[in-house]
Amino acid sequence: MPNGRCCWGSPTTPPDVAADACARTGEAVWDLLTRLAPPAVANARAEAAEMEEVWRRIEPDAPLAAWDWQFVAELVRTERYSLDASLLRPYLELERVLHDGVFAAANGLYGITFTERVDLIGYNDEVRVFEVKDADGTPIGLFAADFYTRPGKQGGAWMNNMVDQNHLLDQLPVVMNNSNLVKPPAGEPTLMTWDDVITLFHEFGHALHGLLSDTRYASQSGTETPRDFVEYPSQVNEMWALDPEILPKYAIHHATGEPMPAAWVETLRTSTLFQQGFKTTEYLGAALLDQVWHRTPLDELPTDPEQVEAFEHAALASVGLDYDLVPPRYRTTYFRHTFEGGYDAGYYSYIWSEVLDADTAAFMTASGGLTRENGERFRRHLLAKGGSVDAMDSFRDYRGQDPDLVHLLRRRGLDA
Ligand SMILES: [Zn+2]
Repeated sequence: MPNGRCCWGSPTTPPDVAADACARTGEAVWDLLTRLAPPAVANARAEAAEMEEVWRRIEPDAPLAAWDWQFVAELVRTERYSLDASLLRPYLELERVLHDGVFAAANGLYGITFTERVDLIGYNDEVRVFEVKDADGTPIGLFAADFYTRPGKQGGAWMNNMVDQNHLLDQLPVVMNNSNLVKPPAGEPTLMTWDDVITLFHEFGHALHGLLSDTRYASQSGTETPRDFVEYPSQVNEMWALDPEILPKYAIHHATGEPMPAAWVETLRTSTLFQQGFKTTEYLGAALLDQVWHRTPLDELPTDPEQVEAFEHAALASVGLDYDLVPPRYRTTYFRHTFEGGYDAGYYSYIWSEVLDADTAAFMTASGGLTRENGERFRRHLLAKGGSVDAMDSFRDYRGQDPDLVHLLRRRGLDA
């Protein structure tokens, strides 16, 4: 993910990125980016106006500049949404978050159960293994978790498949989530940050994709889907962290048993809207540059490094993303994703997945939230199919229509 979370292994990049992805054509990608640009920039401008007021108190004679943005934004954020992480952590204890949050949401949606198998030994003493069973008791597979950081372990959080579900060889899936929580002293509870909690739900969304797969071939199982689709189920799973049924079950003080104060929960909920104009604009700027570098005919590309800045500016200006206060998240000269990170012409995929995610989250909320019916529908049409059918066809089977962009705009507070 752009925010450094995730993810799920690293597929090779196909030669024609969009054709092998959900988007199908470069035009569909371009259309999405250009439709999102105007509301994103309009909101970034509104955020700038708000920050200029704060900035004038600090530097009355200097205009707000792009390099001041993060500093001023942090002042505004602290004023409005500050939650002391050290006060929050005692309410976010790993075992509760895992069993009463992550597993409880999966049980409510899919009826599946998790039983820890201490007799099954992982590759390290810290690996824990859970047997996953369907609502009727039928074994589904194994879920392994390796939560703690240790010397030599890769950083970040991710999901990987040790065994892909497939009917051809009659194999049940073994999937794994990794994270890098700091291990507490013996006998102490593992207390998490809010970001850690969202990451746990996110990675478990990938795990569910692997566990609930129902395909003939391993090569089409679970997360073996296009890049602009694979983050979609995991992003959807994040919604249950703040669910009014789930959060009160796990956000409980580990020592006193008190529920997390309602005002804090509300702050967690509303803080997701903060600076979405800025975040969306800087992301779209980078996604657009990635597209432009790969769409422009060779003989029209800059050949001299001196021409790069003008090339970038023209590209951004062509869709109204040339807003000096919010430059692209990555400029050409340090855009690793697109030139050596395997995301060439594919950096748009984060927002493509999020369009599907926002539409699905709105649909699930409108149709009752955490219910078996909602879960079964998502499982049958989406998770079970993996990459065995066209990804957008499985979305339409699930949803009964194409995704509506309005839900992403609304979620990011960009629809006003
Ligand atoms: Zn992910």
